[in-house]
This record gives sequence, structure tokens and C-alpha cells, in this order.
Amino acid sequence: MDISSPGQKIARAFGPRVRLVFFFAVTWLGFALLLVFLLSEGRREAERKIPVDALKLTSLLEVRLSATMRRLRGNLEHIAASLPQEAFKPATLGRYRDTIVSELGYLSRQFPELGGFCVLDSSGAFLYASGVAPHPLGGAERVFLGVPASQSGSGLYFSSVVADSQSGRSFLFAFQPVRDAQGGLLGVVVAQLDLDALSKAFEVASSDSKSVVALWRADDGRLIMQFPAVVGLADQVYAGHHLQRLIESGERQGSARLPATHDGVERVYAFQRLAEYPFYVSGGLAVDDYLAEWRRTQWVATVAAILLFLVLSLVLIRLLRAENEEEGIARKLSQSEARYRMLAENSHDVIWTLDIPSRCYTYVSPSITDMCGYLPEEIVGQSIDARLTSESASRLAKEIDQRLRRIAAGDKSASVVVSELEQICKDGEVVSTEVVSSYLQDADGVAHTILGITRNVSERKAAELALRETNRQLHARIEEIGRLQVALQELAVRDSLTGLYNRRYLDETLEREVSRARREGSPLSLVMLDIDYFKRVNDTYGHQVGDEALRMLATTLLADVRTEDVACRYGGEEFLILLPNMPLESAILRAEAWREAIEGLSIVLGNFRVSFTISLGVAAYPEHGKTPDDLTRCADQALYRAKHEGRNQVAVFTD
Ligand code: GH3
Ligand code: MG
Ligand code: MG
Repeated sequence: MDISSPGQKIARAFGPRVRLVFFFAVTWLGFALLLVFLLSEGRREAERKIPVDALKLTSLLEVRLSATMRRLRGNLEHIAASLPQEAFKPATLGRYRDTIVSELGYLSRQFPELGGFCVLDSSGAFLYASGVAPHPLGGAERVFLGVPASQSGSGLYFSSVVADSQSGRSFLFAFQPVRDAQGGLLGVVVAQLDLDALSKAFEVASSDSKSVVALWRADDGRLIMQFPAVVGLADQVYAGHHLQRLIESGERQGSARLPATHDGVERVYAFQRLAEYPFYVSGGLAVDDYLAEWRRTQWVATVAAILLFLVLSLVLIRLLRAENEEEGIARKLSQSEARYRMLAENSHDVIWTLDIPSRCYTYVSPSITDMCGYLPEEIVGQSIDARLTSESASRLAKEIDQRLRRIAAGDKSASVVVSELEQICKDGEVVSTEVVSSYLQDADGVAHTILGITRNVSERKAAELALRETNRQLHARIEEIGRLQVALQELAVRDSLTGLYNRRYLDETLEREVSRARREGSPLSLVMLDIDYFKRVNDTYGHQVGDEALRMLATTLLADVRTEDVACRYGGEEFLILLPNMPLESAILRAEAWREAIEGLSIVLGNFRVSFTISLGVAAYPEHGKTPDDLTRCADQALYRAKHEGRNQVAVFTD
């Protein structure tokens, strides 16, 4: 049953590369999601702030405008209250004109938003005005004059926007009815509100923003003024406008996000109904203005996310490459280890590793069993000298110490050594081994492990011994053969009966000696001799006596020749003696000496006493001949002459 954890199962199911990509993807996605969350929060916060600010803006405007309207109302009421009934009667107009005009002028100057005050009678005719000329009312008074008659109150009434085509300015008129004690309409006091001047109160929004503020009529939804001003918008009816609908539904203040309108800008609008007057103000804050900061943050965050993605991708690619390389190295390592393990496990030699500090085996290949009878596990952990003879153990200990010292001194040649050690087997037998040790070093050059190969060389040693013995015997045989060969060669050039050289040897030697004599200009003599009447010896005493006579002749000759002289049996009982470096005269003397020696010789054989003589012919180089054949023929001719002239004598060749 698989009891591994889910993490381990996932790790097994996916390779390291997939896990790496997954990790980086999750990291980046997490970062991206965090950014998206923070950005959306930031946007929500920014957007949440817009209606709040818009409401603050409209509240401010409402306060300002209400204050202005209160002042206006106060002024109008003051004027209305201060006007006596006689001031509306044509007969008494002149009496009040200066006072009222002066008062209206004074009040008008106190009110910068006002174009001026004027007083109309109940028919709409101008009675008094703060300025020199009556204000153009644009017919606004007609609308007003009909209405207040049915109104019971004396509240303000505001006209629609009136544009003065001459000055290009726009005005809003405020009417304050003046009534008598019975409520009858005496006239109206009119205030001319200069919308341009009034718009100063609206200049609260920053000029470089896209914000707008506006003043509306609450009753009919007409736009009175807007800042920044847009030509053609004022006094338009916006009865169906969203804000107007809210006002109509009874809301006094509120906000709404409206899509882009005339200028294509999306804004959040807030409105605020004035408390006592038929107006409301609205402020529209551009969404873009509020999101500008957020958009910068969004841009920076996007760039950061892209950069992070690129950086993570680069790191990922690097890591994947490194992973690939590591995998390749690991694969090669494992193949290499498998190869070496296979070699070690199947090698006939014992392969082992030894930890140097403890001098104990850390690995021993299985062939140790074949070599020594031990199992590898019996050897691993044991000291290196535990299975060695005491001599080998002490020699090895000294060697290791010496090697370590040399390696520490930087001697690179000291790291591999071959030694012969005697190992004790499990059955007590001692085997001779040859050990190749390699000292493995760490990066600092400190040897930590010995990698060794041990080979049983007992058989080889025995074979070497046997070979050495065989070699010795072979040498003895070769020497013997040499000696026999020399003897054989001697036999090949010796005559078997007399032991003198044979004719073939003489032919070779004569050829060589004549060449040398010619080359060196040295003398050379030849003596040819033949036993006289040898047939008779044979016939008289028998062939064996004849052979003995031949041997005696040879012995006599050999007793009196120099080392360099060559005496040979030339034919049956004919002999030829080559005398290098010997001139003719000396040769004659030597020939004579031999003749005498043979003449005086007496051979006793059994009952016989045998004696004989010899005849000799002498020839010399270069006097008589210059070639071996010539010299031989000359000596032969001299011998022939010695025979012819009576035998038992020496004859020298003559032409
Ligand atoms: P001459 O004085 O003219 O030389 O007379 P000769 O009898 O010696 O005549 P010749 O030289 O012709 O005779 C040679 C004899 O030598 C013949 C042969 O019987 C004998 N002879 C040759 N070789 C041997 C040998 O090896 N052993 C013996 N016992 N006799 C030999
Ligand atoms: Mg003879
Ligand atoms: Mg003869």
C-alpha cells in the first residue's frame, strides 16, 4: 500500500521541471493577483472619494450661494420695507427720488454680485433705479407682475436668465413685492444679479481639472449658469435630467455617476438643494481626474508585473537549463558509476577503497571471495593490515606514510604506486598479490581515499620461477649445442684419420692467405710432401700399419708447426703445409727439418719396426705463383722432381 504523503505523490507524478514551472507560475500569478487586488482596491477607494468630494463641493457652494441669497433677500426686504406708499404715487415721486436712488446706489455698491437695484410700480413701470439708466429686464417683469398678485406671501421670485445682447452679460432678476397694509401690490423691488460676478463663487474647482459646477433652477430644471461656462447651455431646460428627476422626487442632496455628455467626460455629479431658495447647485468631478494617480500606479504596477514576469522567466529558463545540465551530469555519473560498478563486480581482480584516516576498507569487490575466501562484508570496515603477513603489513604501513608525506609536499608522481604484498586467506594459505594503489585527493590536495586493485600473482610467480628454471636449462643446452657445433665444425674441416685439416679447409684457407699476402705484401710458402714407396708399407705390414704410419707423420708435423701454419692431409698419403708469412728460404729449412724428423722415425707396432721417408716440394708466393692453383701446382711439380731425383729429399720449384 502506498503510504506516501500527497506532496510526495505530486512530486513523483510531475518531474522537477514541471514543479519548477508550476512554482514560478504560481509565484507570478500570486503577485499579479495581489497587484490586481490592490489596484482594484485603489480604484474603488479613488472612486469612493469622488461622490464624497463632490458632495463637499456642492455643500460649499450651497453655503456660499445661500449666504449671497440671504444677503440679497435682506437687502430687498430692507428696501421694500423702507419704501413709503407715497413713493409709488406719481404725484410724489419727485419728493422721494433722490433719497431712494441714493439708497439703492449705496446698497448696490455693497453688493458686488449685483448689477443694481430698481423699483417698479405695479404696472411694471420704472420708478427708481440705482444706476443712471434703467436696467433692461428683458420682459422678465411681465411674468413676475402677473404671478405675485395671486401669491399671498412676499417671498422672492427669480426670473429666468436674461442675456444682454449689448454687453454680452447674463442676468438673473430677483423680485421682492412691496405691498400696502391691505396686501395690495404697490410695486416690486428688483435686484439684478450679474451671473458673471456670481460665478466667482463657483470658481472653487481647479481650472486645470475637468470639474464642472452649475446652478440650476429647482422648479423647471433650467440651467442658470455653469463654470466653466459653455456657450449655449445656459437657460436650457433639463427637465428630464437625472439630477432634476432626483430633485423632483424630493431629494435635497445626492450624487450620481453620469456618462460623458456634451464634452465626452465622465463625471460623478453631486447636487445640493438650497435650503430656502428654488435653486440647486451641482458639482461634477471628472472621474479621470480622480483616477489619474491610480492610472499612474496601474501603469507602474503593470510594468512591474511585466518586469517580474520577464525576470522570473529568465530565472526559470536559467534554472531549467541548469536542471538539464544537472540531469545530464547526473545521468552520465550514474552511467559511469554503473559501468565502473559492473567492472568492479565482474573483475577477476579485487577492487577496493580504503579510508586513509582510519586505514579501514570502505568497499571491496566480490572477487575477494575467489581470491581469499572472505565475503566482502567480512573485509569492509577492517584495517588494511588485518589480512597481511607481518612483513607485508609493516612494509605497507611505511609505504603509506611515505606516500602521504610526498603527496603533502606536492609530489604528483606519488599518487600511484604498485607494490607486492603477501595476503593471508581464510584457510590460512598465503597468496602473493600485486597491488596498484591510487591516492585520491580532495580539492586542497589532501589524500583521503586509496583506490586499489589487487591481483593474485601466486600462479604468475610460480610460472615465473618455472620459466626461470626452464630458461636456465635452455641456456645450458644452448651452450652445449654451441660446443657441439664448434666440434662439428672442427670435424667438418679435420681429417678423421690424422686429425689434420682436410683439403676443403685448405682450399678456403689458401685462398684467404694468398689474398692477404697480396694485400699485405707478405711472403707465403707451400710445402707438399708424399710418403716414399708407401704401397710397399701397406703391402708389407698391412693397411692398419699404413694408417698408423700416416698418424705418426701427422703427429710429427703438428709437433713442429706454428699456430698460424695449416697442415692438411691433401690426398691418400700426400700432405700440404701452408706457411703464412714465411719466405721460401725458411720454408726450405722447415721442409728439410720435417724430412729429417720422418727419416729418423721408427714405429714399433707389435712385432714390427717400421720406418719410412718422405719427399717434399716447396713453392713460394710471389716468386713461383700468385694464385692458389699456381702455387699448389708449383709445389706439386717440386715434389714430383724430388721423387724423380731419388726421393727422401726436398725440392724447390724451378721453371
Ligand atoms: P712413390 O715413392 O712413388 O710415392 O711410391 P708409392 O708406393 O708411395 O706410390 P704411390 O704414392 O702412388 O702409392 C700410394 C699408396 O698409398 C697406395 C695406397 O695403398 C696407399 N695408401 C693411400 N691411402 C692410404 C691409407 O689411407 N692407408 C694406407 N694404409 N695406405 C694408403
Ligand atoms: Mg707415395
Ligand atoms: Mg702418393
